[in-house]
Amino acid sequence: MDRDLITLLSGAAGGDRISEKDALRLFTTRNRDVWKIAAAADEKRQEVAGDAVTYVRNQNVNVTNICVNTCGFCGFSKKPGDEGCYFHDETVIREKAALAKKRDVTEICTVSGLHPAFTAQSYTDVYRWICEEAPGVHLHASNPMEVAYAARRSGMTTNEVLSAMKGAGLASMCGTAAEILTDPVRRQICPQKIPTKEWVRIIKEAHRLGIPTTATIMYGHCESDEDRVRHLAILREIQDETRGFTEFVPLSFIHMNTPIYRDGIARAGATGREDLLMVAVARLFLDNFENIQVSWVKEGIKMAQLGLIAGANDIGGTMFEESISKGAGATNTDYLDPAEMQRVAEDLGRTLCRRTTLYKRI
Ligand code: SF4
Repeated sequence: MDRDLITLLSGAAGGDRISEKDALRLFTTRNRDVWKIAAAADEKRQEVAGDAVTYVRNQNVNVTNICVNTCGFCGFSKKPGDEGCYFHDETVIREKAALAKKRDVTEICTVSGLHPAFTAQSYTDVYRWICEEAPGVHLHASNPMEVAYAARRSGMTTNEVLSAMKGAGLASMCGTAAEILTDPVRRQICPQKIPTKEWVRIIKEAHRLGIPTTATIMYGHCESDEDRVRHLAILREIQDETRGFTEFVPLSFIHMNTPIYRDGIARAGATGREDLLMVAVARLFLDNFENIQVSWVKEGIKMAQLGLIAGANDIGGTMFEESISKGAGATNTDYLDPAEMQRVAEDLGRTLCRRTTLYKRI
């Protein structure tokens, strides 16, 4: 291991904040030093978040896959009339929420396509129906793109939309639609999505209104290591200001059914080295985040397990009815039994603990 890396890792272990230049050096590591970085991140994880592997019992309730946008990485969205398009009505949404409640979930997630008929009222109606059918279940919904869309469609400010959503039962917001927070990459992969500045503004508005959010990155397509570092730096800056992020969730790009892969703009997803380093560098760089999640939906359970010894402390949710990654070509995304999570955690000598969305132990 070279001397600079030893200095960098021991500085991070001692509590030094690592710079963007340092993070870039870590991301570009290609040899056995990857294990050293993962080990340093794992020690940091133990210090910051302890030894438990946490998970949440949750279910998705997606309302529609019809979307006015055509993001190049998305294999989920459909246009009206396309085969496989759906738009659930109130009865179906209420049934799904009631089923989730029966399944003893503590969290219902709902994110959908941007339906051409949606207004702010459409979102708040859905949230109310879900909360009525599943009282006491935490509603984790929307994202900055949906908030911006609802605001535009209804002549409201994004702050007004967020307040209305909160009033209708929104307890925390998804930090998705972040993809990569550098505009040149966003213009390539999702030109109709809100620019970085607007994503940041809406996230901060949510935090100020007392709506915590997750933080995500979607990596492994056409972004550079520099883009990844800038993205993490933006998240760290927001967290310094608001403390409103509950966790960081790296989302490895699922390429199979996506236009940017078919058109040769994106590569075939991140490698195992990149998946490991994303978790490890995030743990070392995001020194103001307690929770780093591995996504078994995106990476598969074996790679997710390795993430748990590279800086991650959380294995995500049971995910009844996952459909976003499935649309992009991922398999086995429907449900992960906590017994399997336990097997994976115990195999590492760790204990699986159930948590709420806001990381209270159950
Ligand atoms: S990523 Fe979201 S906004 Fe983009 S096309 Fe897919 S569903 Fe629509």
